[in-house]
Amino acid sequence: MARRFFVGGNWKMNGDQALVETLTTGLNSLDEGLLASRDLVVAPPFPYLTAVRTALNKHIGVAAQNLHAKASGAFTGEVSVGMLKDLDIKWAVIGHSERRSLFAEADETVAEKVGAALAGGIEAIACIGETLAEREADKTFEVLFRQMKHIAQAVSSEAAWDHVVVAYEPVWAIGTGKVATPEQAEEVHVALRKWLSEHVSAAVAAKVRIIYGGSVNAKNCGDLAKIADIDGFLVGGASLKVDDFKTICSAPR
Ligand code: PEP
Repeated sequence: MARRFFVGGNWKMNGDQALVETLTTGLNSLDEGLLASRDLVVAPPFPYLTAVRTALNKHIGVAAQNLHAKASGAFTGEVSVGMLKDLDIKWAVIGHSERRSLFAEADETVAEKVGAALAGGIEAIACIGETLAEREADKTFEVLFRQMKHIAQAVSSEAAWDHVVVAYEPVWAIGTGKVATPEQAEEVHVALRKWLSEHVSAAVAAKVRIIYGGSVNAKNCGDLAKIADIDGFLVGGASLKVDDFKTICSAPR
């Protein structure tokens, strides 16, 4: 079965109520056929989740940018899976490179969060990616396979993989304007699918969506979307510009 194209917009720590209004109005004007045929998801900062969820067409998903693996308790500043569910939030970005590098999230923490999300009924957008230093030291696949292994250990069954989207986001391409070439992205996506086939199962490798993130914009999305193994995008900066994000959401396969 063909994998459903996925486009996620990660606002990071950007935006305000005016942007909520602009973006939700803009996205709601997307063609109904497109909305029904693709998974489009936006990830605003926590304070805006409810406003975005309320304003947005129900065919468009809303994601948290993070979550905590524990259900409740003395974890000041954290947000649980149950709270997200309570707000009708169905997705979460987990293990974004900014969480890993700026907030010291280790592979084990990312895996714990993926496990908690899946156990609690939240769809996980699980991020992996190598730094420039790792790529230049020829460690790209070693790093990506290590990150994948931890995530895979948190996914309890073949069926649970239906609720995971893997986002390959080379750290050197995030927010830098330096997009991976279609060939660079394809090489990694093919390798990740092979890894899944060898370490999880052929069925999982065939069905899991592997999306690309890193300086995707309205101009370069067309060439990337044509690559068979790229099942969509995770978009940062360009997701804040309504017309650009709509173009990316509509990128032809
Ligand atoms: C991201 O934040 O996941 C991302 C890919 O950012 P950008 O598109 O700005 O590179």
